[in-house]
Amino acid sequence: MNSKALKIEAERREYYNRMAPFPIFDTEIINDIKKLSMITAKDNSNRQPVTYCKTCLSIKIKTVDIEGSEEGIDYCVTCSNTDMDTTHISEWEDMYEEKYGERFLTSSKNTKKK
Ligand SMILES: [Zn+2]
Repeated sequence: MNSKALKIEAERREYYNRMAPFPIFDTEIINDIKKLSMITAKDNSNRQPVTYCKTCLSIKIKTVDIEGSEEGIDYCVTCSNTDMDTTHISEWEDMYEEKYGERFLTSSKNTKKK
């Protein structure tokens, strides 16, 4: 998916969330799609590096500041591991597909029903 397609997908999910009595799509995932859209917008050749969790392949990474340390520590919001790696988006998508058997953006886990 290119940046434009990702943006449209995020907007489509937000639209359905507004129309439905409860959010159909996980808003966290929508934010991830927007993030991917922004990353891919910077570099259409898919060469932009992305940081992901080596344990669960999530790209929901947060940096926490450690007192007395210049550098913060990255941790995975999904599984709270701190083992990160960096790769290109296309490679990450392939890894994600290999692990979960489906593409990130078509994953049934990414839609939440109440
Ligand atoms: Zn993780």
